Order: sequence, then structure tokens, then C-alpha cells
Amino acid sequence: MGNEQSTQRAKAGGAGPDVVFSPTSPKEKHKSKGLFKRPKKSRRSNSAAPTTLSGSSDGATIYEPQKAVVIGAGPVGSLAALYFAKGGWQVTVYELRGDLRNPENRSLNFTKSINLAISERGINGLRTVDPELTESILEEAIPMHGRMIHDKKGRQSSQKYDVHKRFIRSIDRSGLNERLLDELDRMNNVELKFNHSLKSLSLEKNEAVFERRLGSGDYENVRVQADLFIGADGAHSQTRRQMMKYVRLNYSQEYIDSLWCEFTIPPHPETGDFQLDPNHLHIWPRQKFMFIALPNQDRSFTCTLFMPEDMFKDIVGPEALLGFFRKEFPDVVSLAGEENLIGDYLKNQKLPLISLKCNPYHYRNKCVILGDASHAMVPFYGQGMNCGFEDVRVLWEHICNDATLTEALDNYTAERHPDCVVINDLAMNNYVEMRASVTSSSYLLKKHFQEFLYSWFPCFGVRTLYSMISFSNIRYSEVMKRVKRQERVLGAMGTVIMLGATGAAGRIGFDVVIHTNTHVTFTNSAGSAEVGVVKSFSGGQYTIELKNGNHVSVPEGNVAQLKVSDPTGCPVVGGQ
Ligand SMILES: Cc1cc2nc3c(=O)[nH]c(=O)nc-3n(C[C@H](O)[C@H](O)[C@H](O)COP(=O)(O)OP(=O)(O)OC[C@H]3O[C@@H](n4cnc5c(N)ncnc54)[C@H](O)[C@@H]3O)c2cc1C
Repeated sequence: MGNEQSTQRAKAGGAGPDVVFSPTSPKEKHKSKGLFKRPKKSRRSNSAAPTTLSGSSDGATIYEPQKAVVIGAGPVGSLAALYFAKGGWQVTVYELRGDLRNPENRSLNFTKSINLAISERGINGLRTVDPELTESILEEAIPMHGRMIHDKKGRQSSQKYDVHKRFIRSIDRSGLNERLLDELDRMNNVELKFNHSLKSLSLEKNEAVFERRLGSGDYENVRVQADLFIGADGAHSQTRRQMMKYVRLNYSQEYIDSLWCEFTIPPHPETGDFQLDPNHLHIWPRQKFMFIALPNQDRSFTCTLFMPEDMFKDIVGPEALLGFFRKEFPDVVSLAGEENLIGDYLKNQKLPLISLKCNPYHYRNKCVILGDASHAMVPFYGQGMNCGFEDVRVLWEHICNDATLTEALDNYTAERHPDCVVINDLAMNNYVEMRASVTSSSYLLKKHFQEFLYSWFPCFGVRTLYSMISFSNIRYSEVMKRVKRQERVLGAMGTVIMLGATGAAGRIGFDVVIHTNTHVTFTNSAGSAEVGVVKSFSGGQYTIELKNGNHVSVPEGNVAQLKVSDPTGCPVVGGQ
């Protein structure tokens, strides 16, 4: 590829030579279609504009494709590289690990789940840059039309995701990543550098230092210059850490108490077929913990046990493991086989789950972080990678449409941060939904009521939260606004039902939504009835204020309205 020249110079007192690359020069022009036209706009001047602004023949100011360095060749980094390369930038990707496509390096990816659920936002991120590639990637994905809930007696019940039959897909994570890397390999303005770990960024000099692992086991430092550094180096991002030296970056992280461990349900030993319905995401919800299974192309299922750390610690040895599975997931014992369960449990790590937020996502026109590096979330909405792919599309839209690179990155953070906070919180709340609420009658009633309205009265604009998150590209923050409006609609309807009927009909109203400041009766943790006033609702739990001013958190299934309250505001009818 490219115009880079490399020279070597001895590293003062270091372990090996530094390799120095010159910055991109001269600039190359590339032609592409639609969003992949060269970024072009602005008739304004901007003091913060990159130095590479130049005049175009039609008098508009354009900024030329430049040199981008992508840190991390995971799914998000690979997709970002593809966008920038197709947009005509000179792209070099630096990845800490060896090439994933080399079978001996696959095991290095052990901290990642084997398969994951891809839905509209992820697909849209792919489709925008390469529709054909997207189609061929999706051919290898398996549609999952709903959740299949498994109870302790082995009974199964299906909950469809969408009344309009839309579905999510199970996809092999490495396979997807490999397809993106293959595509990058085919482009002559992309270079892939494996075994390079980012060590430091000197953004004032537009310079990064990577530590390169040599075949001999030694390391050498590599200095790289670029116009833009794109950090897609995951939850423990070194790019983010380095960027903190330059920008007042707010940062928070939280580990949840649950760990995850992977298991496999192999194909049927005789028929070689799937042992469970392949078109469902299977869930064994058990209140404090859960087991899930996603189908693979080879007719196996990759399963994940999410469980509090203390419970993992209590399972010592094969007998304890089998005892636990026989009690909680008896059907899994026969499907997976005792030996497989024991083997997987002993061999596979019990890994933590982190949720992190930060702001901003960029520094001037020099550095931006994407994907897990900027908003790692717990996996319970199946949105982590989907959201990361959406990051790339949104960033690229700003690069194409905003006047300068500085403006594009400013606007990217401003748009994206509120959205990523919303999905981060929803993912956290969905843990309760997946392991507990999916079995509660009030949850199911609410879901069916919303679906009924969505299906039969589209004029009300009611859609389930899940459908807006997984089957649309509506901004996550906008989804939340709609949900709040819908709650007012549903609350008003519930009240109408309550006023027009008694008993069971009234109960529908109660369960659909209980407004703040409504008097309720609830069952407390000791099993006795109490009264209080609802103050808020989140993640399937009502916060209720007691007479003495204390607040308690109560699962929605344990709460009923004491008397009809007047919902504030008129029904807001959708149409959005
Ligand atoms: C159990 C589980 C299930 C999940 N299920 C889903 C799901 O169903 N759907 C979904 O959308 N998401 C899911 N996710 C989330 C998804 O895996 C992540 O959101 C996604 O992998 C993020 O991609 P990324 O490229 O940002 O980061 P990563 O996948 O973490 O990739 C980062 C890359 O950067 C490299 N790197 C790290 N440090 C450096 C460095 N210093 N220098 C150079 N390179 C570096 C790493 O080696 C890695 O290749 C799940 C996550 C878990 C844990």
C-alpha cells in the first residue's frame, strides 16, 4: 500500500529499534458513491479546521481523506477501518493479538463469546458500507424469532420478539470479524499490523507508539504518525487512557456481581441435527441467574451461564456441578451430556461483566474512541456490538456532512453520548428482565397489550421497547422518549379500562403501568401486605415511598394499584 516510508533508528536505552513512519503525504483522492464520496461541505472558514483543508473545483471547501490509524481489529475497529478506507482514507490497523484468521490465534480470543446476536443497528452499520458483503455475512447467520423459555420441568414456551415477525440473528463472532478483515486485506489503501499493542499517544505530535511482538519473543517500539487515531481497543482501552491526558474525560465503570461461563450443547449424537429449536434464543431464567443458548451453523448451541460469583465459588468439583445442573436445568444435562458440562466448566473461564460510560469520546480532530472502548455494556440487550457498528455509521455520517473534522468529532460526541448512556442503562435493566421478569404474568400481560395495540391500532404509535431497540435505527435516546409517551397512552387506556370495568379488566390497567404518586399495595420481602406511594419505575422494579418516608424497591409483579389515580396529561397519540 500507500505512500508510507519507514526508517529505523536506534532507541536510546530501549529494548529495540523504533520504527518511524512519515505522516501521509501526498494526499490521495478516491472516488466513491453516496456516503463514500469524499467528505465535502462547508463554505465557512474555521480556525479549528484541519491543516489539510483545500479548495475544490466547485468552490466548496473540502477536507481531504487523510491518514487514519485504527487501534484494535475487533469487529468495531475492522468496520471503522472499512468505512474510512472506502471513503478514501489511508488506513493502518494495529491489533494487539495475532491475526484472528490464523487458527492458532483463535484461542487468544478466549475472553469473547463465541457467537452473538446481530440485529438491525449492526446490520445497518454493515449495509451502509457494503450491502453485498452484508448479504453474504447474513447468509451465515441463523434467524432467532423469539425467546424460548425453559422451566425447571423442561417445559418450553415461546415468546416471539415481534408481532411483525422480525427477528434477530445468531452469528459467529470470529467468522464476522474474519470477513471484515478479509475485505480490508483486499483494499490497497489498508495495512493490517498484528501483534502491535498501543503503548502511548502524543496527540500534540500526532504520534502513537506501539509495542511490536517479534517472532523471537522480543519486543520493539514502533512510532506511527497519523491525522486521526481511532480507538476501538475494547473495554480496557489504552486509547481512552491516553486520551485522558489531553481532555477532561469523565469516566465511570461498574462490574456487576455476575460472571459468565460458556458451555456447548452439541448436535444430536445420532442425527447430527439441532437438539433444540434453532430459531429461538433459549433462556432458562432462574431469578438470580440464568442459562442461555444461541444456535451455531454446525448445529450446536453455544450456551452461557450468567451467575453471581458466590454461586460459582460454591460449585466445587464435578459432582457439585452436576447436582446444580440437575436441579436447575435438568433438560440441559441430557442435551449437553454430563462429560461435556464438566469439561466446559473446568476448562472455560468465569469472566466478569463490565459496564462503562465516558464523555467525551474524542479529542479535537485528532482522536476518537468507538465501540466498547467508549461504552462497554453488559450483554443483556444483545446490543454491545450492534451499538458499536452504529457508532461507526454515525461517525462516518458526521465526517461526510460536517464542515470540518473537528466539528464532525464534536458533533459525534454530542449526538452519540446520550444514546449510548440510554442503551447502557437498558442493558443493565434487561438482566432483571431476562432472568426474572420474562416469567412474570404482569410482564407478559404488558408485552401482549403493547403488541396488541401495535398490531391492531398502529395509529396509537405503540411499539414495544424491544422492537424499537432491536428492529429500528431510531436513536436510543429517542426510543426512551417514545416509551415515556407510550406509557402515558397506556396508562390512560388502563384507566379507561379500570373505569369501565372491575376485577380482571381493572387488573390489566394496573399492570400496564402505575404512575408516580399513585397509592399502591404491595407484598414486602417478608411476604406481608403494605401500602405506599410509587415514586419511580426502572428495570422491572417500583421504588415505593412508605408512610415513614423510607423507600423500598419492589418487583412489579408484587405491586397493585390501591385506588384509581388521575393520570397527568392527556393521552399522547403516536404517529412518530
Ligand atoms: C458474553 C457476551 C455476550 C455478548 N453478546 C452480544 C450480542 O449478542 N450482541 C452484541 O451486539 N454484542 C454482544 N456482546 C458485546 C460485544 O462482544 C462487544 O460489544 C463487541 O465485541 C465490541 O467490539 P469492539 O471491537 O469495540 O471491542 P473488542 O471486541 O473488545 O475488540 C477490541 C480489539 O482491540 C484489541 N486491543 C486491545 N487493546 C489493544 C491495544 N493496546 N493495542 C492494540 N489493540 C488492542 C483487542 O485485542 C481486540 O481485538 C457480548 C459480550 C459478551 C461478553
